[in-house]
Amino acid sequence: MDIKPRIHPDPEEPPRRTRMPIHHALEWAPHENIEDVLTPLVKVFMTQNAYIRVCAHAGSDLDNEVGGWMAGKYCYDATLQQQFLVIDTILAAPYTNHGAAHLTFTSDSQIALFEFLEHYHPDKQLVGWYHTHPRMGVFFSSWDEWLHKNFFPKPWQVALVVEPFTAAGGFFIRQKNNKLDTRSYFGFYELINHEKKSKVFWKNLKPKLDLTNPEMEVLVI
Ligand SMILES: [Zn+2]
Repeated sequence: MDIKPRIHPDPEEPPRRTRMPIHHALEWAPHENIEDVLTPLVKVFMTQNAYIRVCAHAGSDLDNEVGGWMAGKYCYDATLQQQFLVIDTILAAPYTNHGAAHLTFTSDSQIALFEFLEHYHPDKQLVGWYHTHPRMGVFFSSWDEWLHKNFFPKPWQVALVVEPFTAAGGFFIRQKNNKLDTRSYFGFYELINHEKKSKVFWKNLKPKLDLTNPEMEVLVI
């Protein structure tokens, strides 16, 4: 297996300054809320289209791991003093290693990805990656940790692990001290469309309804 980590050569980009879309999003948190103990460096917002793309890809193969990249925007809300990501673009990785117990990224696929992003989404950044653990649960393996460290080294880059069999998912996000807890995953904020209907169906997350925000009378599945 030829895997040479390659760090994208672009200079360190500052986050773009914009308001966090907290009033247009529904927060999904794990049943055991770890945010009392751990503070993620970034909060993750995901469009419904991006969520659906990930779920469709995740459910397309229940025997092998599949995965890909997540692109979008890395932002900073100066009022709330909070960094956050908006994930709106999902790019499935080519199937590289049939029957593999884990997903692999290669230098070639990573280079092809950056060329694709530069050409088709010049305004977007690579904010992370996703992959599935069919019948294995939502956790971060030592392989996942290695891959994340080498291919997604920026502190604000995140990893999403999906368990398509039991309908579960969670984000692995570095904390402010740049440490990543491999046993604890975070939820995310679902950006709600004009229909105000949630699309999230992962059973390991629950919606945190903000009763003070009348905008957020969403219909949860
Ligand atoms: Zn994994």
